[in-house]
This record gives sequence, structure tokens and C-alpha cells, in this order.
Amino acid sequence: MTDTGTVNGGARTPVPWHLEPLPTEGCGVCAALVRQREEARGARAPWTVEDCNGELRNHRHR
Ligand SMILES: [Zn+2]
Repeated sequence: MTDTGTVNGGARTPVPWHLEPLPTEGCGVCAALVRQREEARGARAPWTVEDCNGELRNHRHR
């Protein structure tokens, strides 16, 4: 019954790079979201980055 073992001592940072959702290959929506996310990062708009991450996470690739 051990699912996720380690809890990371309560850091309040936004989602780290390597934990951001990845686009699904061949999904145009994901690709667009990732592009938008990178633009937002370049524009220093972390809230938009988070928006894109949320959409990526919830996207049902069809
Ligand atoms: Zn997708």
C-alpha cells in the first residue's frame, strides 16, 4: 500500500520545471499549449505558465 513514498518538506515553490506536464506527441493542442507556456515563461507571466500546465494536465488527448 505504499503509493508515493516521499513528501517534500513543504516547499511553497510553484511547479518545478521537471515536474511540469509534458505534451503528448501528436497532440496539436498539447503542442500549442507548450508553445504558449514557453512564451509565457519568456514574458515572465508565471500565472499563464500555470494555466497552460493545468490545461495540459487535464487535456484528454484524442
Ligand atoms: Zn493533448
